[in-house]
This record gives sequence, structure tokens and C-alpha cells, in this order.
Amino acid sequence: MPYISLNPATNETLKTYMSWDRRHLAEALEQTYHAQPAWARLGFPRRAELMHRAASLLHERAAEYAILIAAEMGKPVREGRAEVEKCALACDYYAVHAEHFMQVERVQTGACKSYVSYEPLGVVLGVMPWNFPFFQVIRFAAPTLMAGNGCVLKHASNVPQCALALERLFQDAGFPPHLFSTLMIEPSEVGEAIASQHVHAVTLTGSERAGREIASHAGQHLKKCVMELGGSDAFIVLKDADLELAATFAVRSRFQNCGQSCIAAKRIIPVADIADEFGSLFIKKTKELKMGDPLDEATQIGPMARLDLRENLHQQVTDSIAQGAHAVLGCEPGEGAFYPPSILDDVTPGMRAYHEELFGPVAAVIRAADEEDAIRIANDTRFGLGSSIWSRDADHAEELAHRIQAGCSFINGMVRSDPRLPFGGTKDSGFGRELSYHGIREFVNVKTVWVR
Ligand code: NDP
Repeated sequence: MPYISLNPATNETLKTYMSWDRRHLAEALEQTYHAQPAWARLGFPRRAELMHRAASLLHERAAEYAILIAAEMGKPVREGRAEVEKCALACDYYAVHAEHFMQVERVQTGACKSYVSYEPLGVVLGVMPWNFPFFQVIRFAAPTLMAGNGCVLKHASNVPQCALALERLFQDAGFPPHLFSTLMIEPSEVGEAIASQHVHAVTLTGSERAGREIASHAGQHLKKCVMELGGSDAFIVLKDADLELAATFAVRSRFQNCGQSCIAAKRIIPVADIADEFGSLFIKKTKELKMGDPLDEATQIGPMARLDLRENLHQQVTDSIAQGAHAVLGCEPGEGAFYPPSILDDVTPGMRAYHEELFGPVAAVIRAADEEDAIRIANDTRFGLGSSIWSRDADHAEELAHRIQAGCSFINGMVRSDPRLPFGGTKDSGFGRELSYHGIREFVNVKTVWVR
């Protein structure tokens, strides 16, 4: 199967690439394996210098990369530039902090000297998705490289030009040849890569289906893995919430990136006292979103990344309506891969929109009787990625946050990833953490050294 770069806004094929055979894959893995030890010996100051240079190039090329992202997966250019700028921030962050995060920890024992040393594992495979085709990769690569590891990337098959641009970025920044390599392989070859003696760990951001498969390969070959999978984040609106603010952020959180974000507010849970008032504001603000050409600066909603994703989403919507949900906005497909911002109200247990992740621009509104019921609904899911609570009583909301089974809870703010804070899920949303010092320590050997 070739890698096909196809513009979802126009359905035009931009480029195709043949996927690699096994010999090509084995050679690439071996090259990264041989490049890594010298990189690990280079030390933090030089590694940081190169990582800062990668950040500068990301700044310089933000507009160019945003156009590429728009062409391959339909993200509006305004959002694309913000994504690339966020990549630069993450590179700078790890360039500045990696040495501190990996500092030796002295421990008092009966020995003359004993300590914990964080040492690189070797080569880490990243299997990455198309939704944030630059940031998902940098979120994995910046800490992993700064820890002294090599990186090989199996990117999603619909964003091959982004994948190659990332490889070029690290080359242009002066990183050693082959230290970061893009592998043009199919999903069926990922198991082969994990089994290779030249790969030491794997991280996936993607679907549960891919997660189960990749984690099985990792288990079979006893390799460390991190799984960052889907989510269906609860967005709880309590009766004392600032409804104007909550509705503004419900729209932003649900519909940014055309709703194709793992941490989008997918289940909007208002309590009965304010459900109608909040619902009207939410509909009004959603109607104001401008759908159109992703290259147009005014566009807020582009096409979905692929036609099959749009078709799956609409099937979830029509099934949910047949099961009793009320379509209060949109819910009818547009041209090609376009799907308008949509809202399903009165979503209840037994409906697809209640139980499944809606990976596109459709909000499921699940009305709760009261605060207690809202917490129960928030936890009534297989997923556990993010969550947010909206209330004027931030202390009380903070207490409630501890009862939500999720990797993060935001109070009066929308869930977002920040290099300074750990990011990851519980339950079927996966395990392991990216970002902060937790992220950089996922792919290290936590080594004890003891001297008599
Ligand atoms: P996938 O999980 O299929 O794709 C993510 C990455 O995994 C791609 O590089 C893909 O390669 C690869 N992959 C897929 N299947 C396998 C496999 N069996 N073995 C090894 N690698 C595999 O996501 P989709 O593109 O299908 O998106 C669908 C769903 O994934 C969404 O509805 C959402 O639930 C979830 N998702 C979650 C994301 C997140 O941020 N957590 C991001 C994107 C998707 P290839 O492209 O070649 O198939």
C-alpha cells in the first residue's frame, strides 16, 4: 500500500509514496541504533543547543508547515501555526530543563556513595496520529531525544509529507544523521519494528484498536510502552457556573481541530437547574463558527481529515438519533469530508453517543439531575483522559475533581496539554505519561549505582 497524501478539502491527491519493504526497515532501524550511543555521550549542553535550533526553525517555518498541515489533514492555517509554535515551545522547554530532570539523585545508604542515575534506553519507536501531525511527534521526540535516545517515527499514512518535513527539521537543525528517522511502513510492519533488537521501547498516540495491538507486541517482546489513546472527556457545568464563560470554552474545547482531539470536551454534562440556559448559549456560540477552506485565515472549521472518518462519525450520529437523541444543531454531512459543528441533546445510556468517542465536530449533551449525578455520569465511561468542571466555587469544584477517574481535571479552564504538566490517561485511555519530568523519565533506565 502506498502512503497517500490527499487534500481532504478538495479530494485531490497531492503525492504518493511506496511503503518500505522489510529490508529497508531493518536498515533504517540499524542506522538509528548506531547513531544513538554517540548522541548519548554528547552531553546535555550540546543536545540542548541543537534542540533550541530545532525550536528556532519551527518558529521560522510555522507558516510553511501550517500550509502543509492544512493540505494533508485539513486543519485551518490559524490553528496550524499555533500547533507549530507549541512545538517550538516544547523543544525549548526540554532544551532548558532536561538536564535538571535527569539529574543524578543521591540516596543515603550504608554505602560510601549510592545514587540513582537516569540513562537513555536506546531507540524509541513513536507510532503517531494525524490529528496534530507536528505536535504529537514533537511531544514524544523532544524529551526522548533530550534524554539521549534515538527516535524512529511511524507516522499516520495520510500525513507523509509532514512526517518527512519533521525528519528534515531535525537534519536541518544539525542533529546527527539517522538519529531521528521517519519510517515509511504500514501498520502490519510495526510488530516487526518492535521485535527488532535495534528498538528498545514504543509509544503510541492513537486509537484503542491500535493500542491493543501495539501493546501486545510490546508485551510479547518485553519492551517498555506508553499508550496515549482515545478519550471522551466530561465537561461538567454546575449550577453556579459562569455560563457565558463555560459555553465559550465548551465550543472551543469541543470544536477546535474540527473536533478531532483526544482531549476535546466530548460529553457536555450540565446540571438540570441551568441545562436549558447553558444549552441556548452553547447552541448560539456554536452557530457562530465559520466552516470553510482551511487556507482561509477566517476559517475555524475545516474538513475532517479523511472521508472514512466523516462517514463513521455520521453513522454514530444517525444511530444515536435512532436511539432517541435529539439533533439540535447540524447533524447532516456537508460536501466531501466536511461536517458542520453539530449538537446532540438528551443523550442517555444505551446510545452510541453516550458510550463511544465522537472523534469529530459533534457534541453530546448529557443532562444530569444534580452535581452528584454529574460526577456519576462523568465516570460512567470506559475512558479516563481529561475532564473539566465549571463553577464559581473553585474550591468545591477542586474537591469534586478528585472523584473523577481521569488523567487530569481542569477547573474553569479547558483541558489542554502543557509541557510543564504531565499528560496521559487511565482506564481505556491508556497508561504512561508524556510531558513534564514524568514524560522524559518514561524512556530511561532508572539505574542504581552503589559504591562501597
Ligand atoms: P489509528 O489508531 O488507526 O492511527 C494512529 C497511528 O497508529 C497511525 O500511525 C496508524 O497508522 C497506526 N496504526 C493503526 N493501526 C495499527 C496497528 N494495528 N498496528 C500498528 N500501528 C497501527 O487512528 P485513526 O487514524 O484510525 O483514527 C481513528 C481513531 O483513533 C479516532 O476515532 C480516535 O479514537 C483515535 N485517535 C486518537 C488520537 C489521540 O490523540 N489520542 C489521535 C488520532 C486518533 P496508519 O495511519 O498507517 O493506519
